[in-house]
Amino acid sequence: MPKQAPYIGRFAPSPTGPLHLGSLAAAVGSFLDAKTHGGHWLLRIEDIDEGRCDTASVKHIEHTLIRHGLQWQGEVWVQSERHSFYEAALKRLSMLNLTYPCACTRKEIDEANALREPGENRIYPGTCRHGMPTGREARAIRFRCPTEPVQWQDHRMGHFSNDLNASSGDFVLRRGDGFWAYHLVVVVDDLASQVSHIVRGEDLTDTTARQIALWKALQGGIDTRGIVPPPAYWHLPVILAEDGQKLSKQTGAQAVPEHDPVLNLNTVWQHFGLDKIKATTTKQWLELAAPVWANYRAAQAAR
Ligand code: GLU
Repeated sequence: MPKQAPYIGRFAPSPTGPLHLGSLAAAVGSFLDAKTHGGHWLLRIEDIDEGRCDTASVKHIEHTLIRHGLQWQGEVWVQSERHSFYEAALKRLSMLNLTYPCACTRKEIDEANALREPGENRIYPGTCRHGMPTGREARAIRFRCPTEPVQWQDHRMGHFSNDLNASSGDFVLRRGDGFWAYHLVVVVDDLASQVSHIVRGEDLTDTTARQIALWKALQGGIDTRGIVPPPAYWHLPVILAEDGQKLSKQTGAQAVPEHDPVLNLNTVWQHFGLDKIKATTTKQWLELAAPVWANYRAAQAAR
């Protein structure tokens, strides 16, 4: 029988502001899921967009996690220290002929999507897929999406079949300003740290198909015995602001309050629809929460 891969989970915040309750919920969920599987839980700081990230937020995130008893294993993974790995991944994809340079501006892509409703996904029209128009200069590097739909399973929401050509089109791996795109760095790091389970907020559900396509592409040409299947996914309900918007720095989300970490843990717990846990320390709270989480997982399984 093939050996079961160990459970490796992760929490991967972008340090664009202090940790808010929405991110704490993703941290608690992914932490407890790893613990109830006897697995590892990693912390990855997604600070690749250096203009939007700051070290004060990194410190705040680490401090807040520790204050809530959410201790990660090993060194913190820091994306801004991993450029050479992203470069190597891009090179690999380009050798497999899965990338191409693209000259299109945001305005041109918007114009190609002029008939779409506001709020609908913008789709890259494929202008540069078979070569840039003459006289144009490359801005971004794009990934050639697979023609067949990406099939995947979410623990709570069930089966998805996503046709990337109809939802995003060929997407960006390296942006025109030189920054790495989110999908590439997430997948390179999840692969490098051998993440087996991704538990995160449901606002990221629609990024999953692109990430699975990349995960598979990055293993193209590898001997089938070495191929690692994509992680298992569980997208948790996200905590919204009172006006229904996603909590974020942009929507003015407050930092997780400092004074009573057990109260904060109970706030996210009740958001999952679970009963408050009586505990005096975060350690005790997490111990009592683990078996409840295991039952919650079973009850959440898509049927
Ligand atoms: N860095 C992303 C965020 O803070 C999360 C990425 C992920 O969990 O895959 O929204």
